[in-house]
Amino acid sequence: MGNSKIITDSDFKNYITGNSKALMVEAFINWQIDNWELAKHNYIGLEAIKKKEFHFDGFNLQLQFNPGRIVSTSAKIDAKSIGERPCFLCSNNLPKEQKALLCDTNYLLLVNPFPIFEQHFTIPHFNHIPQEIFSSFGDMLLIAKELGEKYTLFYNGPQCGASAPDHLHFQASPKNAIPIEKQTGFLLKNSEVIYNSESVSIYAVKNYLRNLFLIESNNIFAAQEEFNKLYNSLKEITNFHLEPLINVLVTFDKAWRVYIFPRKAHRPKEFFFEGDEKILISPATVDFGGLLITPRQEDFDKITKGTIINIFEQTSIDDTIFENIIKNYSL
Ligand SMILES: [Zn+2]
Repeated sequence: MGNSKIITDSDFKNYITGNSKALMVEAFINWQIDNWELAKHNYIGLEAIKKKEFHFDGFNLQLQFNPGRIVSTSAKIDAKSIGERPCFLCSNNLPKEQKALLCDTNYLLLVNPFPIFEQHFTIPHFNHIPQEIFSSFGDMLLIAKELGEKYTLFYNGPQCGASAPDHLHFQASPKNAIPIEKQTGFLLKNSEVIYNSESVSIYAVKNYLRNLFLIESNNIFAAQEEFNKLYNSLKEITNFHLEPLINVLVTFDKAWRVYIFPRKAHRPKEFFFEGDEKILISPATVDFGGLLITPRQEDFDKITKGTIINIFEQTSIDDTIFENIIKNYSL
């Protein structure tokens, strides 16, 4: 890998207003937007995007109409298509205007030129290695802590929304931009505690349209250990030969919160329909976090609460399997 992409704070020192990593990252994106026409165009364009809110019993969900996400939403992720395209996360293939900050020694932090959020980052590993959470979860916790003052970290499984399943990466969004982050009170009230120790608690959340586990921990080793147990339980019960279908979101504020969404499918059947019945939503972590993205106006106009319930029913793990994991875990 050539290192010409990595820049230091001296390159954008006029933008820096503080000395934490999160503040440096914020300065970096402002600098990139000012010095990269595509990013500038797309981040300014984000100000005009349309949003809607849907209210459910005790929580809400947002829908965002974002035409810039058409490539990502409809991305072909079969092995043949992936093998035939140049990897857009390998540093040798980045556009010349795109620069990188070092992140947790083995990762690069890049500005995402097709944003969902007013600050949106992609954090690929240095090397072209497959998207895989089991061995990289510890890195995810460390990066979430490093950026936690201002940002939330998320991971899309290779078959659950990652548009580069062949290159390990996380993404980061501004803290609290994803609705679930502000709904933790509701989650805790609507959950069953399935494990509790001095340093870690695990909750199984119900009544939220989609089933999820929430791990709270102030100890990185304990968090990792419990994540591994859940992962293995999920893998065993779903009998999935590859990585179980999951999306993961991590926040850090004195302690980690890890939101794990087990899935049964990546896309709802409507994604593959033609004509009026088609709905172009390809749910990933952001969508499961309560911010649904559609790149087409017609879908934005026709999606109802019923559509959202239907999409989660088709893509979230079934209640019976969820209950089995809970039972298995408590043994
Ligand atoms: Zn790559």
